[in-house]
Amino acid sequence: MTLRHFEPVSESQDFGMMKAFTAEEELHRLPVRGRFDVVVAGAGLGGISAALAAARAGARTLLVERNGFPGGVATAGMCCSIFNCYFTAQGKPGVTGIPVEIADALARATGYGRKWRRHKGHVIYDIELAKLAFERLLVEAEVQVLYNAWTASALRDGSVVRGVAVESKAGREALLADVVVDATGDADVAATAGAPVRTEERALHSLCFRLGNVDVAAFVDFFRRHPDQYPAYMDVHWDPNEALAQFDDCGTFLFPHGGGMQMAAFQKAQADGNLPATIGCMDSTDACQMHALRQTGMVHVVTGFARFNGLDPDKITRSILDGRRMAHTVAAVYRRYIPGFRNAFVAGTAANLGVRTSRWLDGEFTFTPEMMAAGNRQPDAVGRAVGWDHPVLHRGPNAWGCQKCRSDSFDLPYRCLLPRNVDGLLMGAGRSVGAAAPHLLRVMVHTMVVGQAAGAAAAVAARLGCFPRETPLEAIQMELEKQNVRIR
Ligand SMILES: Cc1cc2nc3c(=O)[nH]c(=O)nc-3n(C[C@H](O)[C@H](O)[C@H](O)COP(=O)(O)OP(=O)(O)OC[C@H]3O[C@@H](n4cnc5c(N)ncnc54)[C@H](O)[C@@H]3O)c2cc1C
Repeated sequence: MTLRHFEPVSESQDFGMMKAFTAEEELHRLPVRGRFDVVVAGAGLGGISAALAAARAGARTLLVERNGFPGGVATAGMCCSIFNCYFTAQGKPGVTGIPVEIADALARATGYGRKWRRHKGHVIYDIELAKLAFERLLVEAEVQVLYNAWTASALRDGSVVRGVAVESKAGREALLADVVVDATGDADVAATAGAPVRTEERALHSLCFRLGNVDVAAFVDFFRRHPDQYPAYMDVHWDPNEALAQFDDCGTFLFPHGGGMQMAAFQKAQADGNLPATIGCMDSTDACQMHALRQTGMVHVVTGFARFNGLDPDKITRSILDGRRMAHTVAAVYRRYIPGFRNAFVAGTAANLGVRTSRWLDGEFTFTPEMMAAGNRQPDAVGRAVGWDHPVLHRGPNAWGCQKCRSDSFDLPYRCLLPRNVDGLLMGAGRSVGAAAPHLLRVMVHTMVVGQAAGAAAAVAARLGCFPRETPLEAIQMELEKQNVRIR
C-alpha cells in the first residue's frame, strides 16, 4: 500500500499563519486565558531555559507548547545527544548556568551523574526520563505550563507585542504578557508580530527514530575488535578509544554522523540492493549517526535528509511519510548487517520532524561567524559559549568535517535577541536569533545559552516596567550572574 500525502490546492509559498483579524483586533476580541509577566512560546531546550531563567528571576511565567511534553527536538525530535561544546579545546569550562544544570539533570536521570564531564563525546540521555527531568525543573521553578496549545500569532498593540493568541481544545484565546519570548525555533511569534524575518528555502531535515532490544554491548564490542570501522575524527573530534572509554564509564556510545557511509556493513547492504540511497524525498539513508544507551538497550538513529523550507506543512507531511518508511527499511538493514541488532525493532519514530533551521530574525543586529571566534568579547554580553572549527580530519571517502572545540569561549550579544520594529518580544531559540545564518547558534548548548539570556532579560524588563530594548544591560547581567552565568 502506498500512502498518499495531502496535495495542496495552491502552490502558495507564504507559510505564515492565516489570520482572520489583525493582531490589534485580536488583542481586544479574544477571551483572555491568563495574564503573566513573561510568556515563553515553545518548550524546546531554548524555551525551557528561558522559562526557568524568567521564573527564577521572579517573573510569573507561562510556558506554552504545542506537544504534550517539553523538549522539542531534544525529545519529540528524538535527537537525544547534546554536542559537548561545554569545554574549550584545553578542557576548561566554557559555559555556565542552565545549560550545565540541564546536562547534569539529564545525565543523572539516565544514571551516570556527572561522569559526562570527563569525556569529549555528546551527552546522550534517555528521552522519557528527560521529559520528567525537564518537568521537575519547571515545577521547582514554579513555571506554569500549557501543553497541546499552539501559539497561533502575536497579539499587538501598535508595534508592541502584548501577548499571544493560542489555539487549543478550548478554542482561540489570548495569553497576555509584559514580555513574550519566542522560543518556537521557527520565529512564529516574531513573524506574526511583523518583525522582519528570513526563511531558508532548502534547509536539511531528518525524521529520527529509535531501535529497541539492541544488544548494545555486542554492538560496541564490534568496534573494540574492529576500530577501523569506527569513523574517527568525523563529525566529532575523537578516536574510537575515547568513544569506548565514554561507553565504559557512562554506558553511552556515540557513532558519528556520516559514519554509516564509512562502514563496510552499510556499503554491503547497498551493494546487495537492500539499502536504497534515497527513499522518497529522503537522501543519504546511510549517514546513520547512532546514540546507544546500555541502560535501556536503545539506539537512536539520525539518518536521511530532506531538503526544503521547513515551514511548508505539505512538505513536512511528505517527509514524515517517507521518513517513517525509511526508518523501517534502515532497521531491516541493521538487523541483517550490524552486530547486536539481530532482534531489534523500531521502538518509535519521532513525533516531530527534526527541523534544523527554518525562519530567523532579520534583527537589529547580525550575529556573524567571526563573533564565535575564541575569546571574542561583546559590550552587551548576556552569555558565553564555545564555538568550533570544522576541519576535515577523517581519511575515508565522503569524509565530513569534525566539530573541534576552540581554545576559548565567545560572548553572546544581547542585541541579536531583539527584533527590529517590534517591542515586548525577545528571541529565545538559538536557530532564530538575528544572525548571518540560522545554523550558527542552533546546537543544544547554544540554544540553552540564548534561552537563559532571553528569559532573564524578559523577567528584568517586566520587573522594571520597560521594553526589552530599553532594559539596562547592567540589570540583565546582574540577574544572569545571580543565576551562575559567568560573563565578566
Ligand atoms: C535531526 C537533528 C539532529 C541534531 N543533532 C544534534 C546533536 O547531535 N547535538 C546538538 O547539540 N544539537 C543537535 N541538533 C540541534 C539541536 O537539537 C536543536 O537545534 C535544538 O534542540 C533546538 O532547540 P530549540 O529549543 O532551539 O528548538 P526546538 O527544539 O525546535 O523547540 C521549539 C519548541 O517549540 C514548539 N513549538 C514550535 N512552534 C510552536 C508554536 N507555534 N506554538 C507552540 N509551540 C511551538 C516545538 O514543539 C518545540 O517544542 C540537531 C537537530 C536536528 C533537527
